[in-house]
Amino acid sequence: MDDRFDIAVIGTGPGGYIAALKAAQMGAKTAVIEKHFLGGTCLNYGCIPSKALLASAELMYTINHASAMGVRVNGNAGFDWPAIQQRKNKVLKGLRSGIKSLFGARNVTLFSGRGVITGKGQITVTAENGVESSINADKTIIAVGSVPARIPGWPDDPKRVCTSDESLHWETLPKRLLIVGGGVIGCEFACMMREYGVEVTVVEMLERLMPEMEGALGKQMQAIFQKRGIKVLVGAKVESLKSVGDGVTAEVSGAGAMSFDRVLVAVGRRPNTENIGLDTVGINAERGFITVDDKMRTNIDGYYCIGDANGRTLLAHAASAQAMMAVKDALGKDAGPLLPIPWAVYTFPEVAGVGITSEQAAKRDLPVRIGQFPIGYLGKAMAAGHTEGTVKVIADYNTDKLLGVHLLGHNATEIIASAAAMMTVGGTAKDLANMVVAHPTIGEAVKEAAEDVYQSAMHLPPRKMMRKEADLTKMKSK
Ligand SMILES: Cc1cc2nc3c(=O)[nH]c(=O)nc-3n(C[C@H](O)[C@H](O)[C@H](O)COP(=O)(O)OP(=O)(O)OC[C@H]3O[C@@H](n4cnc5c(N)ncnc54)[C@H](O)[C@@H]3O)c2cc1C
Repeated sequence: MDDRFDIAVIGTGPGGYIAALKAAQMGAKTAVIEKHFLGGTCLNYGCIPSKALLASAELMYTINHASAMGVRVNGNAGFDWPAIQQRKNKVLKGLRSGIKSLFGARNVTLFSGRGVITGKGQITVTAENGVESSINADKTIIAVGSVPARIPGWPDDPKRVCTSDESLHWETLPKRLLIVGGGVIGCEFACMMREYGVEVTVVEMLERLMPEMEGALGKQMQAIFQKRGIKVLVGAKVESLKSVGDGVTAEVSGAGAMSFDRVLVAVGRRPNTENIGLDTVGINAERGFITVDDKMRTNIDGYYCIGDANGRTLLAHAASAQAMMAVKDALGKDAGPLLPIPWAVYTFPEVAGVGITSEQAAKRDLPVRIGQFPIGYLGKAMAAGHTEGTVKVIADYNTDKLLGVHLLGHNATEIIASAAAMMTVGGTAKDLANMVVAHPTIGEAVKEAAEDVYQSAMHLPPRKMMRKEADLTKMKSK
């Protein structure tokens, strides 16, 4: 095999596989290296398996609440866990083979094995059977992703003390589950597991769920979870964890000793950059995350890093967007600017956002105007029985430029696309308010929240306007 390539990509997650396809589409002779399954964390241990399990859970939730919609179902919805797992596995298999055939269609050469940088422009790939091959490439894109963080000192027993890697593929369900960490992964699992009849306790060290997101939304999610019987302990810490009999005992600050069958540790991710030869060529990293500039270039000419491994935004679509930038830059084209990256949480109801939160604006002392709208006021929300949630729109006080849009509500992860599109083209709150939105839709709440930035929401009472005006007067006099 000819081992000289224009571009070599290490890793086939949503960063790596998109980079390889884009490079080949732009005419580069491209190699891609993968040591495990095609599709990376996203396809095999992240976005897709979690959404497949959530889809079955949401269907159960809908069936179990059908009577509120006048639909009679005899008894509670039941489920077949092995069948749910099999359906999920089938989805993953189909998507993996899709990536493989796309590589074939674009003449991307796939090397199966672990890639290590062994010299400038050189990568050695060691296959599972120990056979080594060497690749030479003008440019290398490192897309090795991340792995779940574990807590040192806790039992090393992946059957009981699990991360998302194991939990997504459980063959049986626990009766009592402790989720350590109330971030995105912790919340998605809590929401899903509760519908499968698991007694769930979430322990979050900070003061609210989803602490990095718009504050009000985390609080709303907490109320929704509690109504569903999920125990949420915020501002609390799991001080220690011990294996006891078939389960574990956790010492939780403020709550004492608690017993569980299993634990999901959802406390973050660490970069997969150990022993991949960064030192061989002198690539800089901080706490393992590879340092890059806004074009995804590392400090060493010809080396790029995209996705979770650079630690900028640990999301699949961020990895893919960075892949496009890195490839364009590597092939001498304009990579374009960094664009707003939306985020999404697939609980039911969903949560989504783009841009800065009101807490971040306050921290940076940015003068902003904020509009909000309760989703429950909408005709569509009432008609469809999805009344939970709020939209918040944050705009620059002086220029009206949109700085952030955040929402909790049904279909939030789809609705956020309109706000992200508006922010991508540098739109203002007035642009968002002027947009004509189909009726009846949940998306109307985004338009109303944008109107509320200027106290002109059609479906908010004047009392609210007066309060907002008072707020603005206070801000102006600051
Ligand atoms: C439970 C869970 C749910 C998630 N849900 C979402 C979601 O809904 N939406 C979203 O946007 N993000 C989600 N994420 C995050 C998302 O999965 C990651 O941000 C994304 O996968 C990162 O892509 P990546 O290409 O950087 O790396 P990865 O997807 O981690 O892929 C890296 C690949 O590189 C391979 N590799 C590593 N080292 C080597 C080597 N030396 N040689 C060869 N191959 C190597 C790995 O085997 C892996 O296949 C979720 C994550 C988790 C854990």
